[in-house]
Amino acid sequence: MVPLELYAAQAFERGIPEIAITDHLDFMPGAPAYEYADYGKREMIVRDAAERWAGKVTIRFGVELTYESRYEDAIREHLRSHAYDYVLGTVHAMSDGPYDRSRIAGFVAGKTLPEVVAPYFGEVAGAITSRLFDTIGHLDMCKRWLVPWFKAPDFAAIPEVYEPLLVALVESGMALEVNASGLRHPTGETYPGAWVVRRFRELGGQRVTTGSDSHLPRSFAFGLEEACEIVAAAGFDRLALQRGVERGDLALPERFRR
Ligand SMILES: [Zn+2]
Repeated sequence: MVPLELYAAQAFERGIPEIAITDHLDFMPGAPAYEYADYGKREMIVRDAAERWAGKVTIRFGVELTYESRYEDAIREHLRSHAYDYVLGTVHAMSDGPYDRSRIAGFVAGKTLPEVVAPYFGEVAGAITSRLFDTIGHLDMCKRWLVPWFKAPDFAAIPEVYEPLLVALVESGMALEVNASGLRHPTGETYPGAWVVRRFRELGGQRVTTGSDSHLPRSFAFGLEEACEIVAAAGFDRLALQRGVERGDLALPERFRR
């Protein structure tokens, strides 16, 4: 586990007023973050850090839940019985799914891009309609695994595949995360790309967040400048916190204002 001090200190130095710590939680037995760390311990560590940094950096106790439709009931029950400041819902490549390293090449062979992304986007659609989360994280991270076959421009050429997800997301009131980790992957663009964020805004999207998806201190805040640029260029002037809770969204710094 990364010492939170290293994140908090970097946030303070860079003038980032608020961060959320969102450790992973998986619901598939055997997945990397299945029963990764118990809730009480996670909460204590984050709340302790929040207390130490109070007045300098606001530290939120969040979680990144792997959404899988087959575990929706367990996820719902977890969220009903555990209180977080911030809940990110995401879809990952599961070891028994089509995007696992052992079978992705066979899965992709002979398929069009819409066919290839269908299982991933199908789960993202489930995450959105579940309405369980504050934010949908890395909406199209499947780009990362598909780099050998499909590049960012191929994804930009299938807007009709994104459209229903964005419409549902706007209706749900959940926020769209602009995840910068794609900028340090061979993908070369955020999850999702700038055009998706623009389209989300055009469709009436009100809430966005940015995330670095940092798993190490050296990638803390990596790409956040670019992510904020994308958000600002799409017409947003603030980042959203919890859904349905008026605790003051985070205005983008002056340099991003248009
Ligand atoms: Zn993730």
